[in-house]
Amino acid sequence: MAETFTGSFTQQEPLPDEAIEAALAVLRHGRLHRYNLAPGEAGEVALLEEEFAALMGAKYCLAVASGGYALGCALRALGVGPGEPVLTNAFTLAPVPGAIAGVGARPVLVETTERLVIDLADLERKIAASGARVLLLSHMRGHICDMDALMEICEGAGVQVVEDCAHTMGARWAGVPSGRHGVMACYSTQTYKHVNSGEGGLLISDDAQAMARAVILSGSYMLYGRHRAAPPEEAFERVRLETPNISGRMDNLRAAILRPQLARLEARCAAWNARYRAVEEGLRGIPGLELIERPPQEAFVGSSFQFLLPGWAPEAVRQVVERCAARGVELKWFGAPQPEGFTSRHDSWRYAGTQHLPQTDAVLAGLLDMRLPLTFSQEDCALIARIIAEEVTAARG
Ligand SMILES: *Cc1c(COP(=O)(O)O)cnc(C)c1O
Repeated sequence: MAETFTGSFTQQEPLPDEAIEAALAVLRHGRLHRYNLAPGEAGEVALLEEEFAALMGAKYCLAVASGGYALGCALRALGVGPGEPVLTNAFTLAPVPGAIAGVGARPVLVETTERLVIDLADLERKIAASGARVLLLSHMRGHICDMDALMEICEGAGVQVVEDCAHTMGARWAGVPSGRHGVMACYSTQTYKHVNSGEGGLLISDDAQAMARAVILSGSYMLYGRHRAAPPEEAFERVRLETPNISGRMDNLRAAILRPQLARLEARCAAWNARYRAVEEGLRGIPGLELIERPPQEAFVGSSFQFLLPGWAPEAVRQVVERCAARGVELKWFGAPQPEGFTSRHDSWRYAGTQHLPQTDAVLAGLLDMRLPLTFSQEDCALIARIIAEEVTAARG
């Protein structure tokens, strides 16, 4: 009889005991708002910011309500306004073009390569054609482009880079932590990302002016003096009365459960990669199936897995998805005509206007994607790969 898989692709690990204890302590004292502090108390949010800044080697950090909020906040902090073009990846998740639309700006989508990263030649063309001064670079599904080449292009053209690191917390490019190339970087602490507080986001930067604006934007009620990873007082003087309050703070309860998880981040990244390699090993050499090549500079975090069925007819791809689902393996198809669950394609973002992206369309037509939660064992991953390999082989005929 054919093997089936019975695990859940959406079940993350329970929180560590230390996080549960820390949450109970906050619940017992009741000071959940970040600025509600007892005399001499730093507060969980300020401590989280300080610890995350240190982990990333950034000067400043701000914790906020979600990853999407962090993206919008970063754009506002850089002064992006209505009608302005903002470059971003055509292959990303809806909150990324959504953050651009949220500040009234206009997403300009850049083509995707077969390695699932931004196409640098198309980026150069679109910088010139659009006159954009900001790139919201999404490291979608953890794939990191050649950051040295990208920064050279952007610096040469005077384009500021905001990094969307929702899938790269803990990753590096040529030894540099993901999020340390651009002027600002945004992380998500939503349940499906690398640390889990249900909802939440983190913003880092070395730019004092931009970060002072971000702190005021997040709703600091002029209490920024209580931050421990914010710029010095002088940076606030110029912006404090000019910057609107667009509330999106993090609270002490979420920060309390995140701090113990940060301490475990490196070990968790290694655990994801062991699972990623188990799937990759099982799918190597299957005719018709192409793995995504990962360059040696890219120290990625394999919290999800992608592969291509290049040139396949839509009906055959759909068959693979259906046959795998019947055996318990949940694949997301980026080529599906209608957006489903967390997966959507640029032509579903109608507010961005129709954009001609033939190369991205060709890649997405054969792109399959799955989560690899840490509740899966390496044996589970090997089984998942066997099922995919068999069904791809069967559907190819
Ligand atoms: C999840 C995600 C975000 C936004 O994070 P939320 O915390 O859900 O708002 C941004 N970009 C990408 C690529 C994501 O996957």
